[in-house]
Amino acid sequence: MIPSVLPTYNRAPLEFVKGEGAWLTTADGRRFLDLGSGIAVNALGHAHPALVEALTSQAQNLWHVSNLYHIPQQQALADKLVEHTFADTVFFTNSGTEACELAVKMARKYFYDKGQPERVEIITFDGSFHGRSSAGIAAAGSEKMTKGFGPLLPGFVHLTFGDLDGVTNAVSEATAAIMIEPVQGEGGIRPVPDAELKALRAICDEHGLLLILDEVQCGVGRTGKLFAHEWAGVSPDIMMVAKGIGGGFPLGAVLATEDAASGMTAGTHGSTYGGNPLGCAVGCAVMDYVADEAFLAEVNRKAGLLRQKLEGLIADHPEVFEEVRGAGLMLGLKCKAANIDVVNAGYDNDLITVPAADNVIRLLPPLTLTDEDIAEAVSRLEKAAAQVAAA
Ligand SMILES: *Cc1c(COP(=O)(O)O)cnc(C)c1O
Repeated sequence: MIPSVLPTYNRAPLEFVKGEGAWLTTADGRRFLDLGSGIAVNALGHAHPALVEALTSQAQNLWHVSNLYHIPQQQALADKLVEHTFADTVFFTNSGTEACELAVKMARKYFYDKGQPERVEIITFDGSFHGRSSAGIAAAGSEKMTKGFGPLLPGFVHLTFGDLDGVTNAVSEATAAIMIEPVQGEGGIRPVPDAELKALRAICDEHGLLLILDEVQCGVGRTGKLFAHEWAGVSPDIMMVAKGIGGGFPLGAVLATEDAASGMTAGTHGSTYGGNPLGCAVGCAVMDYVADEAFLAEVNRKAGLLRQKLEGLIADHPEVFEEVRGAGLMLGLKCKAANIDVVNAGYDNDLITVPAADNVIRLLPPLTLTDEDIAEAVSRLEKAAAQVAAA
């Protein structure tokens, strides 16, 4: 008999009742150290007092009004994002996949309005993840995500990750945009080298294409910059954001330059919930923390500390781990043992990590984790590794 919850997930036998900082507690009192953050969502950890305050005080006044009216919290969050990024304008969604939908629509409408309606193709890369909507799975293109779901949204050209020559060869009169995650998340924490991101920007400039960056997972302070592309010193035309921006409240956004957004006039797109007062009040509180140089400096310091300890862990357990990669507090441990065995051994030692493709386990801790949390995390990873090695 089918479970009452549609069984699209293989769930671990764990159930949490409370969260605080980087810690999650089960009903029977086990305390797990959370290096997953609900997949890079709880950027400020669980139950951060500023987010609890933002949510509860907004909840007492006004949860939701439609986008038929002005929403001051939405205006405030858009202003913050514009102030701190390349963007001139922002549309709010409830998720990353909806941000992908708009990014695709925006790119196509841009060229339609410029009198080049044949420019509809978007170049994407293997190992990418852009969400589970029809556009999102068509963009990623993997058989795992698309098989059985019928005709896919046309117009995506899939290239090998890292194949710059392939990009140059794939550009044609039909190309509208290149869409890429600066650091692949689901794909196994695979960072795009700075030089490559610069090269993609140059290709876009040369051919008049739009560069769409998917920062749903790597954005919002995760890599130690507010947005990951800042490391490469290039900026996109369109950027997808979600996950960390709501700190646990379902919130996403598309950020764009004035030019890239020029086709999106009144009536061309919408969302019932996107940008509602409750979500944006929380998003503002997240931004007030994360868009701060001192906060980001701390993320980088802690990332350095964690990474150094992980190098030691790998050296001690070469039979379990191969390498650490990633940026900031978006780290991947490439495993020699099966990654799922390492994740499960983590559970046995009250530690949460997240599997990814390419036999990687992801470490995406709250950006607020403490030095003590880092020491504890590595000690639990040691135990998990020893357990896997002994098995
Ligand atoms: C999670 C993710 C998405 C999809 O976001 P949802 O909120 O799950 O719809 C898109 N792109 C990237 C890079 C992601 O990590």
